[in-house]
Amino acid sequence: MTIGSSDNTRDQGQENLLRTLADNVPAMIAYYEPQNLRCVFANKRYAESNGWTVDSIIGKTVREAIGEEAWRMIEPQVERVLKGENVEYVRPMTLPNGERRTIEVNLIPHFDQRAQMVGGFVLITDITRHQLAEQAIRDSEERMRKFAAATNEGIFFHKNGILTDVNEALLAIMGYTREEMIGHNTLEFVPPEWQRAVTDYMSAALENPYEAEVVHKNGHNIAVEMVGKTLHLGNETYRLGALRDITARKHAEARIQYLAHHDMLTGLPNRAYLIERLATILALARRHGTLVAIMFIDLDNFKTVNDWLGHHSGDALLKEVATRIKEVLREADMVSRLGGDEFLAILADFAAPEDAARVADKLLESISAPFALEGRQVYANASIGISVFPRDGDNADDLIRHADAAMYSAKEQGRGHSRFYTPGLSDAAAETLARESRLREAVQRGEFVLFYQPQVSVDTLRLVGIEALVRWRDPERGLTDPSEFIEFAESHGLIDEIGQYVLREACRQNKAWQAAGFAALPISVNVSAVQFRRGDLVAGVQRVLEETGLEGRYLELELTESLLMDREVVGDALVGLRALGVKITIDDFGTGYSSLSYLQRYPIDKLKIDRSFIDDLGTDADDRAIAIAIINLAKTLKLTALAEGVERQEQLDFLRANGCDEFQGYLAGNPVPAEEFSAFSRA
Ligand code: C2E
Ligand code: MG
Ligand code: MG
Repeated sequence: MTIGSSDNTRDQGQENLLRTLADNVPAMIAYYEPQNLRCVFANKRYAESNGWTVDSIIGKTVREAIGEEAWRMIEPQVERVLKGENVEYVRPMTLPNGERRTIEVNLIPHFDQRAQMVGGFVLITDITRHQLAEQAIRDSEERMRKFAAATNEGIFFHKNGILTDVNEALLAIMGYTREEMIGHNTLEFVPPEWQRAVTDYMSAALENPYEAEVVHKNGHNIAVEMVGKTLHLGNETYRLGALRDITARKHAEARIQYLAHHDMLTGLPNRAYLIERLATILALARRHGTLVAIMFIDLDNFKTVNDWLGHHSGDALLKEVATRIKEVLREADMVSRLGGDEFLAILADFAAPEDAARVADKLLESISAPFALEGRQVYANASIGISVFPRDGDNADDLIRHADAAMYSAKEQGRGHSRFYTPGLSDAAAETLARESRLREAVQRGEFVLFYQPQVSVDTLRLVGIEALVRWRDPERGLTDPSEFIEFAESHGLIDEIGQYVLREACRQNKAWQAAGFAALPISVNVSAVQFRRGDLVAGVQRVLEETGLEGRYLELELTESLLMDREVVGDALVGLRALGVKITIDDFGTGYSSLSYLQRYPIDKLKIDRSFIDDLGTDADDRAIAIAIINLAKTLKLTALAEGVERQEQLDFLRANGCDEFQGYLAGNPVPAEEFSAFSRA
């Protein structure tokens, strides 16, 4: 080889070094002379790749060295080198063992000092491996694109926040065109309030799904679930992001939240939500030193409306009550329905307990105004119990419990009132509550039955009437007399339900007896003053008569004297009942405040001399005088006189001697169940 020096020994050493070097670089190297293109030098790798040895290739032309096929490929390049150009190209190459490689070829002309071309270097690198790697990247990009196109998820690539690619689904979700997105910063599509979260997520290179929002082209925000992934493509690092529109899910979640927190009927917050809010309200009040009032509002006769007018009307009433309560309260206050006919109001931020009392009065007034339900005027009343933070408790549970106890106490005091909590109310209230719920269940389970007692003519001893008397078959205590529960039922809003049962059952039974061929007689039903005061007694009686088919003249209602004093309540009702043919008896006559004027004023049919006067007829001169006076009074007013509690013959004899019309008592017969009574009247 004659490149360079003329000193022989040094040449020898240098040539060895050069050879070692050339054979050890990972490239193919050769040197050709320009005239005939014959090989002057080749390293081992070049020679062997072309099927020669280092020695045998020397002197071969390029064409001979690389073979016909390769020559055809490179001939144009050779021409260019010969013209003095540096040439670089890539071509396939087949090794002698048949292996296919890709090589990058550099042809470099070699000039001497006079710029005369003296040779050409050939430098070849095998780039097969790089090419495969690039191909792999191209393949994976292609796969990624196919994935991106096949999904509904919006997919985007970005480099340092700048979008480099987006799929169709993303464009559909966002409303933009590809051009409007590519090259833009991802944050341009994120609303300001979410930019922080998105930036933090990206810069921490997180890869867990998270929820955020993006902005649609037309300006509205879209709730999305996003997930990012860091990708290494070649030497580049990209972030891939996938996002899913979760608007529908968000709506569903909001709906579920609403359902979980509200009462569907009235739209008011429910108990769970109220308790949650109450904790916050109390915390604020604690900090600011203000008062909070808890009001337990319970309708007094809701069940009756439900039973008389149906559930539809009951629901309408509850809605209307909810509206009225909201109207009375201020914006800052809160009311929720706890279930049934119970409401709980929270009054935040007021100065003195009297303020709460005033609000309670307004609520009672508002609720007591008539409701128009399906063409009828219906009256409702409420009782309200009030507890005040911090005086009556410092947590939600205690305050609600105490308001509840105060509400029961208000009911006991006679309904339609409000009452503040006072310590000691709770135990009594709990007992009352237990008793009330037992009685309520009794109504629902039909544990009440009617007993019947004969009313007999003093002269003929013939049966002239029947009194229906209620009994409770208490599963715990057995058959229970009305003295044990009537008063309690009256003061706890249960008498309506019991009274309705009694009225209906008595009418039904009387009609059944008539149908079975017994002599048609009036049946007496005791009516509580509470039932009268509700104002819909006449309508209720009319309905029962229609439903059972009993004629009005075969029904008698027994009421007590004191009721007659309540002129407003009673006047119209008695006239209405009379119009239905129903008779009116004054029960327990002589024990109440007697005023002769009302006996004249109202359409009354019968006076029942109270048992207490009859008891001692034999021994007590005063009782004898009273009994005689009542009998005479009845005669004067053309009313029937009936003596109750007649147990002994001498009592009956006295009554007969003094002109009493009828009597009732163990002497004639005890109150007995319907079947027994049938047997009795047959005899
Ligand atoms: P009342 O209407 O004056 O009924 C008469 C009570 O005297 C009945 O008691 C009856 O069993 C009892 N009795 C009858 N004959 C005799 C007798 O010869 N000697 C004695 N010592 N007692 C006799 P009961 O059934 O326990 O009823 C008590 C009260 O409960 C009734 O007095 C009435 O005010 C009330 N009551 C009964 N049923 C009903 C009802 O369905 N509705 C309402 N609101 N009150 C009712
Ligand atoms: Mg009676
Ligand atoms: Mg009586």
